[in-house]
Amino acid sequence: MPTNPDSHIIVREVGLRDGLQSIATILPTASKLAWCEREFAAGVSEIEVGSFVPPKLLPQMADTADVLVAALARCPGLTATVLVPNLKGAERGAAAGAKKLNFVMSASASHNWANVRRTVDDSLAEFERVVAFSHGLPTHERPVVSGGLATSFGCSIEGNIDEARVLALAVRLAELGAEEVVLADTVGYGNPAAVRRLFEAVRRELGKLPLAAHFHDTRGLGLPNVVAALDVGIIRFDASLGGLGGCPYAPGASGNIVMEDLVFLLESMGHTTSVDLAALLEVRRYVQQLLPGEALRGSIGQAGLPKNFRSLVAARQGGR
Ligand code: ZN
Repeated sequence: MPTNPDSHIIVREVGLRDGLQSIATILPTASKLAWCEREFAAGVSEIEVGSFVPPKLLPQMADTADVLVAALARCPGLTATVLVPNLKGAERGAAAGAKKLNFVMSASASHNWANVRRTVDDSLAEFERVVAFSHGLPTHERPVVSGGLATSFGCSIEGNIDEARVLALAVRLAELGAEEVVLADTVGYGNPAAVRRLFEAVRRELGKLPLAAHFHDTRGLGLPNVVAALDVGIIRFDASLGGLGGCPYAPGASGNIVMEDLVFLLESMGHTTSVDLAALLEVRRYVQQLLPGEALRGSIGQAGLPKNFRSLVAARQGGR
């Protein structure tokens, strides 16, 4: 079923994790918080603030607990999420108050090994432990547990990934207790036809379980892939401000889809996102100042909004 033309679409910022982990600059905690606070104020209600991985591997993420605690205090109502590859990460995330744990594993066995040093079966077993841990927490402290499949549309080590394999893993994650499943095109190998096929197949198997799409724009197909996912009813999308991002273990993975361009795409198609695009562009300028050495990407950031765009938004707010 295609997404209705006026659906509310949930856009989720992942640049503080996916972006910052793949650039040389180590952003200070206060700067991460300022970014988070400003983007939340612009209307982005779900933000992945970091990851709980060994600081030796990713020193950029060493302050994730501090960022999480402070972000929750400063942004009431924020769905603050963290990426976790294992139970230890889940425990640290829950202790710091994460609203959602984004467990990550890869559909590609080689990528999973490179990324988290586990076999795919071991990652599934670890996911089961994360779910059990979460279920053991008092209800009000229990984070949502999301199951993410990196390299769902291809892998820079293995090449093609069999769609039946990805489907089976998505079903397995749901059986083990995932409250959301994310299909990620970690290295930008996906295309709109594959996106339609795979999301449709997963949707058929998982019914009403929330599904989300995480696209990289490595080969220019990020936004076409979003449109394809919308066609089959997906309403949750990851993106990063200025397209910051990649994966340190996936050579060539050069950037998430651009948040500003995603919001523009969705709003111009008639969907609502709750994001104030003009305010979001201000946040982009601010983040560029925080990261003077990094080139931000994005068409709307460079070209600006179309002349009549505000009035379109205003017309919608006036009721239609
Ligand atoms: Zn990614």
